[in-house]
Amino acid sequence: MSNDCLFCRIVAGEIPATEVHSTPTTLAFRDINPQAPSHVVVIPRAHHANVGELVAADPGLASEVLAAAAAVAAAEGATDGYRVVFNTGPSAGQTVHHVHAHVLSGRDLTWPPG
Ligand code: 5GP
Ligand code: ZN
Repeated sequence: MSNDCLFCRIVAGEIPATEVHSTPTTLAFRDINPQAPSHVVVIPRAHHANVGELVAADPGLASEVLAAAAAVAAAEGATDGYRVVFNTGPSAGQTVHHVHAHVLSGRDLTWPPG
């Protein structure tokens, strides 16, 4: 838990979020600035800065984040498809340095992304 980390503070209940899925090790909540009709952020409860650091430190937890992302997509009714994105580092636009998977669905998603 880092007091400086927005997503650690959401895990701690200090900042409200609209939760859609929860496990003992992961949490999923709606993005405050959705980029698709369904835009959910999936995080491990434990703090890791990015996906590379997460998988190096705890590959089992990385797998649990992916399983939660798939469960969220199913619960959101993403039968036509969905996208899971880990923005990593400044050139990818990562703004919150607590690893998170964006799970996007509900519209046609172009490829490659901008
Ligand atoms: P990044 O840009 O790091 O890949 O994604 C961070 C995401 O967190 C952004 O999509 C942003 O909209 C979302 N976000 C930032 N602050 C909050 C917040 O306080 N609550 C929620 N639910 N999402 C947030
Ligand atoms: Zn954190």
